[in-house]
Amino acid sequence: CGVFGVWGAPDASALTALGLHALQHRGQEAAGIVSLDGGSFHQHKGLGLVGEVFGDEAVMSTLKGTAAIGHNRYATTGGTHLRNVQPIYADYAFGGMAVAHNGNLTNAATLRRQLVQRGCIFQSGMDTEVFVHLIALSTAPTITDRLIEAARQVKGAYSLLALLPDGTLAGMRDPLGVRPLVLGRLPDCGEGGWVLASETSALDIIGAEFIRDIEAGELVIINKEGIKSLRPFGAQGNRFCVFEYIYFARPDSILEGHPVYTARTRIGRELARESGVAADVVVPVPDSGVPSAIGYAAESGIPFELGIIRNHYIGRTFIEPTDQIRNLGVKMKHSANKAVLAGKRVVLIDDSIVRGTTSRKIVDMVRAAGAAEVHMRIASPPTKHPCYYGIDTPSENHLLAARHTVEEMAELIGADSLAFISFDGLYKALGDEDQREAANRYCDACFTGDYPITLVDRDGHLLQA
Ligand code: 5GP
Ligand code: SF4
Ligand code: MG
Repeated sequence: CGVFGVWGAPDASALTALGLHALQHRGQEAAGIVSLDGGSFHQHKGLGLVGEVFGDEAVMSTLKGTAAIGHNRYATTGGTHLRNVQPIYADYAFGGMAVAHNGNLTNAATLRRQLVQRGCIFQSGMDTEVFVHLIALSTAPTITDRLIEAARQVKGAYSLLALLPDGTLAGMRDPLGVRPLVLGRLPDCGEGGWVLASETSALDIIGAEFIRDIEAGELVIINKEGIKSLRPFGAQGNRFCVFEYIYFARPDSILEGHPVYTARTRIGRELARESGVAADVVVPVPDSGVPSAIGYAAESGIPFELGIIRNHYIGRTFIEPTDQIRNLGVKMKHSANKAVLAGKRVVLIDDSIVRGTTSRKIVDMVRAAGAAEVHMRIASPPTKHPCYYGIDTPSENHLLAARHTVEEMAELIGADSLAFISFDGLYKALGDEDQREAANRYCDACFTGDYPITLVDRDGHLLQA
């Protein structure tokens, strides 16, 4: 998911809609904005893309105020229903509050059972709602303390924004900083102009200046008194999601000091060094394979060509093809560019193999276009484990790499050869020479199975993590 919040700026909700648009890649299912105008909250949410939900001037004119938070939904818990669209707005003893969350709580089901037993009535299927109930039930003296008390009870990955009844915008990252969150500032907004966003690309779209990343375990409180930084959890280290660099974040974002684009091109260079192959063209699977293919081509000296063209106009509203039409091999998203591929030895580059469906289809397509050889190179290690921290990977039995060796996978997708980047190569590309050291700085659980945050709901016990 993507989150965006602004405090102390005119047209806060219009800025939020723009920020969400720049974060659209983080979730395309639904979008929502809650604004705060003096003491009154206003909200609008809908299923679909940001432009569809907030394209109407009449809608935007109801979202008054100088503070707002917004959210792009990419479902990890709870289905696609309007009741599962964020921000969550709730009235409680101290007034209204709105919460927007990117990540996934690993003890949400456990906490939810306890809360329901205490009489809480849940309105959604989202893990995030647990947070709202915990804040409402807290008897701590200040609103900040209530937020901290709630955060101490949840486990998991979260970058969380909250708009609170006293006019505060709060932003918080989980103790290990698994999901990103950055702070920026708009010019010419006096004491205000503060912006919190999942990625720097959302600052760029509105002309806000990047100030810094919110740190792992940091809580920032933004209100009339200015900006205050708290560390309710002490120092617990940093395990930023390495998959943000590989696939999830936008290539023009800068996260934790690393430009995402540079990380990807460097991964491509490492891949060429590790598993180079004699070939005529380097072809990315667009869009996710493009930066690493550029790196691979530069390092190997093999020309980069657009051998696969992506159609960007497939909306969710497009009719689901019938089986009959599907059997014709209708290629909605990608098509082969014969002029580039015919007779060529092709190195195909993609960021990851999850189920293997995409790779199989693309390799078939490239062969049908007349390629002489197809060598697949992947800019991540094999995805062997599900993510429980906010990326929607399927369960283990649907992950190709969980059930097959690399040789078997090559055969299943129909490639002449297949290779993945090594952990050493990946971390070298991210600027860490020492792989063991890097393994302590990033989450890479979907590749290694080393889960840095206790999986309470999955494992059924509450350890102190
Ligand atoms: P597969 O077809 O193997 O299941 O998926 C691999 C493709 O899905 C890759 O091209 C990759 O870019 C993309 N991909 C990887 N992770 C995700 C994800 O979390 N969400 C979406 N929508 N696509 C993903
Ligand atoms: Fe990122 Fe993978 Fe860790 Fe999930 S399991 S947070 S996708 S590195
Ligand atoms: Mg892709």
